[in-house]
Amino acid sequence: MPRALVTGVTGQDGSYLAELLLAKGYEVIGMVRRTSHHSYERIEHLLDRIEIVAADLLDQHSLTVVLQDTRPDEVYNLAAQSYVPTSWNQPVLTGEFTALGVTRILEAIRLVHPTTRFYQASSSEMFGKVNETPQRETTPFYPRSPYGVAKVYGHWITVNYRESYGIYAVSGILFNHESPRRGIEFVTRKVTDAVARIKLGRAKELRLGNLDAERDWGFAGDYVDAMWRMLQQPTPQDYVVGTGQTHSVRQLVELAFSHVGLDWRRHVVTDPKYFRPAEVDLLLADPSKACRELGWEPKVGFGELVAMMVDADLERLSAPGRQVPAAVHHEGTKSPPNSSGAE
Ligand code: GDP
Repeated sequence: MPRALVTGVTGQDGSYLAELLLAKGYEVIGMVRRTSHHSYERIEHLLDRIEIVAADLLDQHSLTVVLQDTRPDEVYNLAAQSYVPTSWNQPVLTGEFTALGVTRILEAIRLVHPTTRFYQASSSEMFGKVNETPQRETTPFYPRSPYGVAKVYGHWITVNYRESYGIYAVSGILFNHESPRRGIEFVTRKVTDAVARIKLGRAKELRLGNLDAERDWGFAGDYVDAMWRMLQQPTPQDYVVGTGQTHSVRQLVELAFSHVGLDWRRHVVTDPKYFRPAEVDLLLADPSKACRELGWEPKVGFGELVAMMVDADLERLSAPGRQVPAAVHHEGTKSPPNSSGAE
């Protein structure tokens, strides 16, 4: 039975990846940071089938011990401070988790169990102020936030450990990927949650930032399959993963409101608080290498994804007897959320 260690297992991608690996017959070990409260809601249904170990990307020793104790065949590093606006408020901490954390895991692998295959969750935010469109594996990076800068470091240290030590280490450059499990602070989920609240008469308006930003949005469930495929290749390589289609935040909003028969113009207000100090205007993937070499393709299109997310939020908010806390949004760069979970 192959064994996989997943950092960031409590996050959106961690939960989908754990499901996929269990279905493939893996023994799954999920790494979590010790906190006074647990945030296991995305993996509650898996807790009897996965092992949870406590360690921290900030603590080298804890990682070394986890590698020694578990000796996994594969390590998926999905943990990070993953929210762009927070990275302006906590740039050093973002660097510790999202950049140096990668080196710490790679060091543990190198010293304890160098035959482990390693997946690094890299991000289209590395392309930032894009040098070419669409973006592919060879497109130069130009990150536009401390988060993007930290991810560039994580990418290159992964490449470097592959080239320096022959470790099977790959960097998956994934474009934005969403789902009903997406954190509420990201724009897709913020929109679908607000649409559901407005539809149910519990809210009236939705305050957003830049409606002109364009993203290549796919479904997280499809993307974890690409991660797994990257670790099954004869030679380790880096891949861009996205849909090859881009949509603006405005289109997202239009689609989400019209899905429940509402006119977005009557509810959406733009608020300068949600604009960023530096913006990534347009992201569009060229996933042809992943499609060709991994046999991967996205299955859920944008319209289906938005409908799925709105429907899930409607269902969640209408469930009888469920306590529904008021949505708390932290998108502005002024008041950071305590967000050091994983994407
Ligand atoms: P990101 O691409 O990783 O930063 O993912 P996000 O979902 O946080 O943001 C995607 C885009 O939506 C960015 O260009 C934001 O500027 C834009 N956007 C516009 N309004 C909002 C908002 O209220 N919240 C968030 N999170 N993003 C917004």
